[in-house]
Amino acid sequence: MGEKAVAELKGQVRGEVILPGDERYSEARKVYNAMIDKRPAVIVRCTGVADVIAAVKAAHADGLEIAVRGGGHSVPGFGTADDALVVDLGRMKGIRVDPAARTVWAEGGCTWGDFNHATHAFGLATTGGIISTTGIAGLTLGGGIGYLTRGAGLSLDNLRSADVVLADGSFVTASEAENPDLFWALRGGGGNFGIVTNFEYRLHPIKNIVGGPMFFEVEDARDVMRAYDSYITNAPRELGAFFAWQIAPPLPFIPENRHGDTMCVLVVCWTGPPEQAKRVFAPLRDAAPVVAEHVGPMPYPALNSAFDGLVPPGLQHYWKAVFVKELTGEAIEAHMKHGPKVPVVNSTVHMYPINGAVHDVAPDATAFGHRDAKYASVVAGMWPDPTQNEANIRWVRDYYKALAPHSEEGGYINFAAGDDMNRVGANFGRNYDRLRTVKAKYDPHNVFRHNQNIALAA
Ligand SMILES: Cc1cc2nc3c(=O)[nH]c(=O)nc-3n(C[C@H](O)[C@H](O)[C@H](O)COP(=O)(O)OP(=O)(O)OC[C@H]3O[C@@H](n4cnc5c(N)ncnc54)[C@H](O)[C@@H]3O)c2cc1C
Repeated sequence: MGEKAVAELKGQVRGEVILPGDERYSEARKVYNAMIDKRPAVIVRCTGVADVIAAVKAAHADGLEIAVRGGGHSVPGFGTADDALVVDLGRMKGIRVDPAARTVWAEGGCTWGDFNHATHAFGLATTGGIISTTGIAGLTLGGGIGYLTRGAGLSLDNLRSADVVLADGSFVTASEAENPDLFWALRGGGGNFGIVTNFEYRLHPIKNIVGGPMFFEVEDARDVMRAYDSYITNAPRELGAFFAWQIAPPLPFIPENRHGDTMCVLVVCWTGPPEQAKRVFAPLRDAAPVVAEHVGPMPYPALNSAFDGLVPPGLQHYWKAVFVKELTGEAIEAHMKHGPKVPVVNSTVHMYPINGAVHDVAPDATAFGHRDAKYASVVAGMWPDPTQNEANIRWVRDYYKALAPHSEEGGYINFAAGDDMNRVGANFGRNYDRLRTVKAKYDPHNVFRHNQNIALAA
């Protein structure tokens, strides 16, 4: 960016304008995945909508590409790019709850930790991710899967409206009543259409839950998966539960002599009456002998941050994802072959149920194109040591290769790797053609390209 353009931009924004050579640059260019090493031309830490508009216009005037960053958790590192202008919303954390209307407005830089903290004060919540440091923006725009999904739907199913800065710097609100085509596309189309500065969500009366992890032996994982799969099909919707592989961390509730052993886990979250929890969990707890568990009553935000320690910023990340309609015997055998090889304590495989309320919504009502799947599964390679990249990436690829023949062609866009661009159409699924049309209308020059990028309709 030329000196004059930088001076103009600095005059137009209240947030920081950070350039290569600035002391803050090396910190500001970092995203969550330490494998991403990009050098943007300029990073604008916006403080409000006016800054976002100014940044978009400055990029346009200077011919710079734009990368948009909410919480920065994108595994392919879409929140940054070489030589681009980064619109960083991380300082935009305003939240307003209307408890009477069970509605919250949250700015695009909020994390789920920020969000849950604000809504919990009113005994309210909506579906968010399972880690509190993930951004609400990227997670919601791609889908939004978490503990509350079976009862409350995807995060995007709870979106009432969104304020958006479009590619030309203009500002619109999208809802069922205003710009409904844009509102449709935002709910599942990722960051392809504009920069969402404010999200309005529906809230649910959820305050305290009963939940936590149950650990089982690797040898019992087949039985655990079968019991889980059979129960989750029709289990009460107030039950959120996912299957995972996990090396036992050194936590006090796990016997010391088992720390470091590979196990499988069911993580549960019951939002119904607490006195029913034991009965509701029984078919899962009885799947096989439990080695260790830490299940009990707690505030909903506590469960939402319970596993943050396993995934601190600065790990290397490489993930692959599939949607699954039916967990077949062959798929279980693929899991049994590769799951026990999980290389490090941070890495995992999660099998999230997306039945229940997700299936109530018509498949074409929002852009999210895989409502007929039962699970969104992710093989999440996360490791601290960059010298181990090859071995960890190989584990993810081998696992994915084994699962793919027993899964849908597409995977959840928010769990996909950077080298998944050849699968973009399959990842968006049945709504891809309509997404292409809306993309051509709202972003005809593909200004918003650092994402699972939707090809413009011809
Ligand atoms: C540790 C970890 C845990 C996770 N857990 C879950 C989970 O439980 N459930 C789940 O569904 N997903 C989960 N995810 C995946 C998560 O949904 C994606 O990584 C998501 O993209 C993160 O959003 P973000 O805002 O933090 O990321 P960013 O990197 O900031 O952005 C991701 C994408 O969204 C775009 N974007 C960001 N902000 C905006 C905005 N305001 N307007 C328009 N576009 C924007 C970016 O350009 C980019 O393309 C997890 C990821 C990680 C790393």
